[in-house]
Amino acid sequence: MDKKKRKEILDKLYKEKLIEFRQSLPFDENIFPKLFDYLDNELIIYGCNHTSLITETFLQKNGILNVIEVIEWLAKNGGYCDCEILANVEDLFDYLNPPKINTTPKKEVSKQKINSLETDFGFCIERVPSPWNLIETTATNSKEYFFQFGKNNNCTVNLHTHFSLFENDNDEHWINLWIDETNLNYNLENLTVERLKLGDYTVFIAKTKDWTPVKVWCANKKNSSWLLKMNTELSRHKGDIKELEKLLSSIL
Ligand SMILES: [Zn+2]
Repeated sequence: MDKKKRKEILDKLYKEKLIEFRQSLPFDENIFPKLFDYLDNELIIYGCNHTSLITETFLQKNGILNVIEVIEWLAKNGGYCDCEILANVEDLFDYLNPPKINTTPKKEVSKQKINSLETDFGFCIERVPSPWNLIETTATNSKEYFFQFGKNNNCTVNLHTHFSLFENDNDEHWINLWIDETNLNYNLENLTVERLKLGDYTVFIAKTKDWTPVKVWCANKKNSSWLLKMNTELSRHKGDIKELEKLLSSIL
């Protein structure tokens, strides 16, 4: 039997089993994810006492009257008590994925490499210099852009349009941003801010001697509606800043 044929048969069997399963359900399939959420929360607080008491409470609260039938059905499917119902029965509803209830629609995000960019907020690059790549990510209502090079994402440069007003002269501002973004809050004695002038840009570099993350902000003196932020690492940041300089000089 060839692979394709075998797959067709397996698909058909799966579909038949699924129809049978759905027909066997003791109440609306869309209520099951709610039950599992409820169990998830209650079991954390009360634990399982080897009965299906929490499940029964849920049924009562949701006006489900065929309790005996439900409990029998759950047991038949591997759920003899509340913790087993969550552990063994929830997976049987994977076919509902994404669950039809209680979910906000998932954001569809797509990524693509682009070669040039001109935005309505005045960011323009016609040619992305090697070794950088420019990536456009598209979500439901928004597009975002970042530059990167190399295989790992250890160095990225993000284009930002929403940021708080600069307090360029205030080191503390950049230090606090570094702390906010890294969530690191100790061994900060050596946290320093350096400033560089690169063409039309003022570049702020926040780093420590103890931690890997290095944050670099590039503010364009002529256009304050966007800025570039580089995330890099202590061991490589000097080389990365050289590449950054190339990138900045390619922006029109
Ligand atoms: Zn249990």
